[in-house]
Amino acid sequence: MRVLLVEDDPMIAEAVRTALLQDGHAADLVGDGMAATTALRTSRFDIVLLDLGLPRKDGLGVLREMRARHDATPVIILTARDDVPSRIAGLDSGADDYLVKPFDLDELAARMRSAMRRSTGRSSPVIEHGAIRLDPATHEVSLDGQPVNLSAREYAVLEALLQRPGMVLSRAALEDRLYGFGGTIESNAVEVYIHALRRKLGADTIRTQRGAGYFIPRTPES
Ligand code: CA
Repeated sequence: MRVLLVEDDPMIAEAVRTALLQDGHAADLVGDGMAATTALRTSRFDIVLLDLGLPRKDGLGVLREMRARHDATPVIILTARDDVPSRIAGLDSGADDYLVKPFDLDELAARMRSAMRRSTGRSSPVIEHGAIRLDPATHEVSLDGQPVNLSAREYAVLEALLQRPGMVLSRAALEDRLYGFGGTIESNAVEVYIHALRRKLGADTIRTQRGAGYFIPRTPES
């Protein structure tokens, strides 16, 4: 997933960012509310982790502006403010969930999975699509019940495509999911991952929409 982390405390920011990268996410970090709004207006993220007490514009302001312009990206508030009124204000302003600092990084990962499930309209944590089964909690993928070994980036591409069957994702959108801001991207990286996924999961699994990108066809159940 591509994650926007909005946090002005450098120690917390670095700890969370490291955990996200280890979990195979692309994580972009901004340290104030104005920078967060700019990032949200110019890039697409799968989820936002938002501190409330921020320089230049507070987190609630960032969140209210997002929802006012119909940006429905899931938002989890991360804050030291554990009093009930600010929790309620966050949820009423359109946050999907709320974590009080200090929080456990495994719990954050679980809440991110849960928020993503809700935002993509899935009730089950495991994605099953035809013969493919993908478990976002463990990053395990199987085909017809047989485990399939994927690299972290192959997994990220597959997860992105499986979250919205039938939807075409451009190469640029997939690169964003893999690298975030400022990552070094080899020009054919996405093609290499798609090629590997087709080899491991079957040539027809991922289709190319010429000039537009890649998609996984919907199944009757999806
Ligand atoms: Ca703060």
